[in-house]
Amino acid sequence: MHKSLKNALVGAIEAGGTKFVCAVGTCPQDLDRIEFPSGDSPELVLAQVTDWLGEQQRRRGKLQAIGIGSFGPIDLHRDSPTYGHITSTPKSGWRNTDILGAVRRVFPDIPLAFDTDVNGAALGEFYWGNGEGLHDFIYITIGTGIGGGVMVGGQLLHGLVHSEMGHLRLPRIPGDAFAGVCPFHGDCWEGLCSGPALLARAKMAAEAIPPEHEAWDRETQYIAYAVANLVCVLSPQRVIIGGSVRKGGQLGQDRFFRMVRARVRVALNDYLVSPPLQEDIDRFIVPPLLGDDAGICGAIALAQREIA
Ligand code: ZN
Repeated sequence: MHKSLKNALVGAIEAGGTKFVCAVGTCPQDLDRIEFPSGDSPELVLAQVTDWLGEQQRRRGKLQAIGIGSFGPIDLHRDSPTYGHITSTPKSGWRNTDILGAVRRVFPDIPLAFDTDVNGAALGEFYWGNGEGLHDFIYITIGTGIGGGVMVGGQLLHGLVHSEMGHLRLPRIPGDAFAGVCPFHGDCWEGLCSGPALLARAKMAAEAIPPEHEAWDRETQYIAYAVANLVCVLSPQRVIIGGSVRKGGQLGQDRFFRMVRARVRVALNDYLVSPPLQEDIDRFIVPPLLGDDAGICGAIALAQREIA
């Protein structure tokens, strides 16, 4: 089930809506890395990324593969003419960007792996984090947007397109009039709970929102609804929540997770009987062990799987 990776020298790109993180190395303990702002010119940042990877290759030796975990939506079908493209993103300048092609032009003769940023992060946690030893778990990120990667039977789930759990529709909390910020759906999960949604709701940055502010109640309640739904659909052995919002601002990460866990228990109401959903829920809903490095470590794993 748990294939080990060869510690080959590989490149990694975590393509985010705010920044691109790049790394070269053999494992999480051996990474040279750099970040570039994503901006609104894909050509510029992709040139910066490929130039840097080329420099590292001259310095450290030939890269055996490159793994790319990208924000999306993206096209993951290898036989599609737009394979490797970012497709319908609302992000300015990035619609229909051939991200894989830009890397392929500079590295024509090595394997390139391409997946969603959250599937990448799930893979990072699978090999080196809180997904180790598990075959079915979910990795969720709550930041600029909300996305989730899913491991099912030890394989990343792709399906028809790829998971877009950030756009789940959730029951409204009675009395909550916040319209939500998703350009496609308004009050989907991302529309209600992303970083920009929290900012719009509280009219201040997460770091400034006092612990007793109602925004944290709403935030953790909607997250709990979403997690409860995902538990019912996918029956994961664990739910890992990464991204910036789970740090909880002034509330703090521990209290944030305690609120989410308690509300997941209320939402499920002991219908499903399993210790991780009851007395062991502290170990069931957890932050990533790799912290903010889950994504870039996952891109390293994506690359190494191509040669493992
Ligand atoms: Zn949406």
